[in-house]
Amino acid sequence: MKAFTYERATSPAQAVAAAARAPNARFIAGGTNLLDLMKLEIETPQHLIDVNGLGFDKVEATPQGGLRIGALVRNTDLAADTRVRRDYGLLSRALLAGASAQLRNKATTAGNLLQRTRCPYFYDTAQACNKRKPGSGCSAIAGVSRQLAVVGASEACIATHPSDMAVAMRALDATVETVRPGGVRRTIPIADFHKLPGSTPHAENALLPGELITSVTLPPPVGGKHVYQKVRDRASYAFALVSVAAIVQRDGTGRVALGGVAPKPWRLESAEAQMPRGAAAVAAALLAGAKPTGQNEFKLTLVERTLDAVLTEARS
Ligand code: SF4
Repeated sequence: MKAFTYERATSPAQAVAAAARAPNARFIAGGTNLLDLMKLEIETPQHLIDVNGLGFDKVEATPQGGLRIGALVRNTDLAADTRVRRDYGLLSRALLAGASAQLRNKATTAGNLLQRTRCPYFYDTAQACNKRKPGSGCSAIAGVSRQLAVVGASEACIATHPSDMAVAMRALDATVETVRPGGVRRTIPIADFHKLPGSTPHAENALLPGELITSVTLPPPVGGKHVYQKVRDRASYAFALVSVAAIVQRDGTGRVALGGVAPKPWRLESAEAQMPRGAAAVAAALLAGAKPTGQNEFKLTLVERTLDAVLTEARS
């Protein structure tokens, strides 16, 4: 691990000012992904700004009838919140499908959104990887790609986004609130938060340098049956091959987002019009234009079958 300096921020203004002063700084909260990346020298920040003391650790009702989730709310606490379990069951289930109990105790809401891909070549510094080192190539395209993306990828990168929580938040139309140096605040719809790789796979999200996530807001609950199903190689502590987050209303309409198949939580609102027609129609719409590799082509069938199981469960 490279040497770095460290400070504890005591206010959001102090945190973003420190980030503005040190261009190669990173915010750290739970550190469940960042510390691994630093040990492997994939991330080499010269300065860490600890934001654990900023007080963003509460889940609060909004005047609009939704919930504002502080950026530092731990995944375990969010999954167990009675309002989340009652009104946003999809989110609670997705959180509990992620990582391990120990990691969920430490991992935060903002950190979960920002976690980086688990593409094996990204973690192997002896291999070419455009995301880790822009312009170096992509070892995965002709390599081991079983876990990787079938839609939304590019010729530069076929990595998937690893979060379960973000898939549920995409289905719930969450928004991400931030603060920047100078105190500028903004709200980013989660649909626009994660970027597709295009020719710049190292640019993974909409955050600007020094911009800090303060909270994630859920709109008022939409009712319906909430189902999250994750298909993976072992029963726990594994990333999704395919996951499906669905909210299904009594009349068969609803929302669907996919995990494990794309560089970002994958939701196409236009595909949801197909929900009353069944899983095959929804899967065809969600996966239109898919470009699987020989190793991950199975995901196309797996999406349809998982969707079928989810829609069947939602109707039961
Ligand atoms: Fe790197 Fe993306 Fe290629 Fe994986 S898929 S090796 S993360 S460029």
